[in-house]
Amino acid sequence: MNLELCCQDPRNDDETLDRWAELGELVDLPFQYDGEARIEDTRRFCDWLPGMFASANWEPGLRTLPETARICLATTFFQEPHQTQLHLLLHEAIHLRLFRGRLRANFQVLIQARRLPVEEGEFFHRRRYIALLLLMFVQEVGADYYLRAHYPQRWHVYVQERLTHYYLPVHVPQLDAQDPLSPFVLLYTLFRVELGLRMVDAAEPRRLLVERRDNLRNALREVMSPVDFDQFTKAAVEQVLQVDVGNDEPDAEAYRSVYDRVMAVLPPAMNDAPA
Ligand SMILES: [Zn+2]
Repeated sequence: MNLELCCQDPRNDDETLDRWAELGELVDLPFQYDGEARIEDTRRFCDWLPGMFASANWEPGLRTLPETARICLATTFFQEPHQTQLHLLLHEAIHLRLFRGRLRANFQVLIQARRLPVEEGEFFHRRRYIALLLLMFVQEVGADYYLRAHYPQRWHVYVQERLTHYYLPVHVPQLDAQDPLSPFVLLYTLFRVELGLRMVDAAEPRRLLVERRDNLRNALREVMSPVDFDQFTKAAVEQVLQVDVGNDEPDAEAYRSVYDRVMAVLPPAMNDAPA
């Protein structure tokens, strides 16, 4: 398998190779690749989504094309402290291991979902974006469990960084009664909080996580039927948080139920249309 590193801004290319080499000296990497890591300079295989620091993608080998793992680094990545950059790289490297191994069924749904044509209009693009975040959530859970189990010496600092970046970000989305996708944006925020509560031990951040969880649950209870509320805020999150990444045997479960549910949400005008 080849490994390609790709930066949003070419001025970061040299620094990226240095950082990757540094990570390899610091820890045993979670996956093996052939030869040297190389810079991918066409930059066309990465989605530079707002708010992202880094992402990973993987292409299985196809006829003459080699199997390729890729880590994409946004400009914001390089504004993070040095140590955080190393942890972000390790996190993406763990994603690559799980994409090919334990969470392969989920990753395959993700690839198919990304290839599906999107209907015209802002609503449908946003619906897909939110649905994909919820589909990918199990990969985030898996990455944290894996890092905690295999890199205990990095865990203490990583979990603090993860708290501000992912479990408890400053910006909290608000419910918009006119927007049928809004509950699912809150649901994704709640999923992250629930993951944080499984990961964080310190008292004060736990207090903040509990407070945010309760606020989000109360808001969702207002807009969801009791059946949906239980299904999404309890059953779905419990199922995903129970994912076991303790071995590489592909997990048959694709964790797609919430994704499917979001993709079935209709824009407001269509809901109001007479039957
Ligand atoms: Zn991630």
